[in-house]
Amino acid sequence: MPGSPIDLHAHSSVSDGTETPSQLIRAAVAAGLGTIAITDHDSTAGWHEALAAAEGTGLTVIPGMELSTNYGPASVHMLAYLFDPLDGAIIAETARIRDGRLHRAERIVERIAVDYDLTWDDVLAEATDESTLGRPHIADALVRKGHVPNRSAAFESILHWRSGYYEKYYAPSPLEGVRMIVAAGGVPVLAHPATHGRYRPMTDEVIGELVDEGLFGLELDHRDNTEEGKRSLRTLAAKYGLEITGASDYHGAGKPNRLGENTTRPEVLEKLIARATGTRPYFG
Ligand code: AMP
Ligand code: FE
Ligand code: FE
Ligand code: ZN
Repeated sequence: MPGSPIDLHAHSSVSDGTETPSQLIRAAVAAGLGTIAITDHDSTAGWHEALAAAEGTGLTVIPGMELSTNYGPASVHMLAYLFDPLDGAIIAETARIRDGRLHRAERIVERIAVDYDLTWDDVLAEATDESTLGRPHIADALVRKGHVPNRSAAFESILHWRSGYYEKYYAPSPLEGVRMIVAAGGVPVLAHPATHGRYRPMTDEVIGELVDEGLFGLELDHRDNTEEGKRSLRTLAAKYGLEITGASDYHGAGKPNRLGENTTRPEVLEKLIARATGTRPYFG
């Protein structure tokens, strides 16, 4: 039986969290969690270390990932749980996304460097070899150089999508994402889908198509979702029989989000585990 409380969304230094997978597991134990999912952006590179660190702690670890997808101009994040990490399509597609992110980050830095003292090496110094590189690492370099006080300030100014330095990166469509995750035996959940209030990039019909392909749930209990957006999506979840999950989206010191600030009900996790065929939970 997975332990409670259950937090199904957390990042390590393999993507843009500030703690290594082992430190993330220790933080989860210290926070009194019973279950944690490690969900780095577009990477499973943290799974081994996280599972090894959980051994003997009593913590349940759900191996997962937060897959980047693009829907028109919108970036749509999709949580993927318990898929086969050796699935060829997942390996190839996440490698393509990470490569696109890397070159896009280089171009963003080139543009910023015209106006600020910042080099590509400054950014690389904030990441590890296996990191899924993104704006958070550029933010950390800007903080270290003294251009902004912290990550959030960087996102509100130099790294904002309207700043003139920004560009998007390659990602598959949400429909392709759901299909890929399901084909790898995994369980897809739309991450923080109500961040924009009444405005949603994807219509009810489009979410319905994802449901037809195996979308399992909506991460409604997340600090970035607005009350108005949650209300409308709760109605949609009931209509389509979607499960509702909750999680912190912990990034260590990189964001104010704290482990366990939102959680998922044990019955929902049981259904999720029953649906998955790619990987089993790890009972540490
Ligand atoms: P990117 O994927 O490179 O476009 O960067 C987006 C990532 O930055 C997301 O995964 C968020 O976790 C992170 N992020 C977004 N806004 C903030 C913020 N205000 N403070 C810290 N991290 C943020
Ligand atoms: Fe992130
Ligand atoms: Fe996200
Ligand atoms: Zn996240």
